[in-house]
Amino acid sequence: MPQNPHPVGSLDYPRTYQEFRAWFPDDAACVEYLGKLRWPNGFSCPRCGIGGCWRTGRGLWMCAGCGLKTSATAGTIFHRSHTPLSTWFAAVWFVTSQKNGVSAKGLQDALGFGSYETAWAWLHKLRRAMVRPERELLAGVVELDQSFLGGRSKGKPGGASAKTPITIAVERADRGRLGRVRLELADAPGGVNMVDFACDVIAPGAAIHTDGARVFTRLAAKGYVHHPTPGYKAEDLDAVMPGPHLVSSLLKRWTAGTLHHRISRQHLPYYLDEFTFRFNRRTSKARGLLFYRLLQQAVDTDPHPLKELTGG
Ligand SMILES: [Zn+2]
Repeated sequence: MPQNPHPVGSLDYPRTYQEFRAWFPDDAACVEYLGKLRWPNGFSCPRCGIGGCWRTGRGLWMCAGCGLKTSATAGTIFHRSHTPLSTWFAAVWFVTSQKNGVSAKGLQDALGFGSYETAWAWLHKLRRAMVRPERELLAGVVELDQSFLGGRSKGKPGGASAKTPITIAVERADRGRLGRVRLELADAPGGVNMVDFACDVIAPGAAIHTDGARVFTRLAAKGYVHHPTPGYKAEDLDAVMPGPHLVSSLLKRWTAGTLHHRISRQHLPYYLDEFTFRFNRRTSKARGLLFYRLLQQAVDTDPHPLKELTGG
């Protein structure tokens, strides 16, 4: 789906809470907004692909070719939700307008949800929309390393117990600044899965900096310019691999400070997605732009019932 590359504040997205309130007084306004995000170049039928439609009652689009009625929320995380869309919009605004996001408890309090579980499920649905499947590959100079998350639990089964290896790839831009990041929960420390991850998220031709582990010699054969640092030791992290080291520190601070609870290994990938979403937009001054991007990606996402999220 072609996306608006340069959305404009006050035109494509609300810049302030006042604008947010004025733009979305009811569910009908929310439906219209989602329709524009879903079909930026005009309606296209999900069944026959023909453009052209009639608008019918209750916020539906009817294909002029085959007569299929579809809604802007069909097949998205909002699909078949019993909650008013305006409440979803409020949740998206709340989550994106805070620099570090919110905990499930924070969302529950803000929106007056009856249960913590509902707020938790909402946050997880939104996290699933935070990283686009066809997201762009990292390019230029990339630092690749691994860090460990967790490790404080003492023999409690089932929780975020042992230290969990996280693979970090981060672009190094001019003057030492960092660009975009990609994160992955690794099956095991080190090893060939780091090379597979690099191939998944880094564009061929990029320069990749790693430590001196033998496994990274495969990167050259995969079309990358490989810069190993032999003899690299953990104490030298800041000097040799400052990008992943900084990302790791921020990730640890964020999980400890914002979420207020342990994250199970099963759910960790979604938290990594939220961290990635926020980190890659950290320089954006317009919080409304994050609101726009998240909704845009949300109408591009499959629905996930609660029982699937909780694994039961
Ligand atoms: Zn059709």
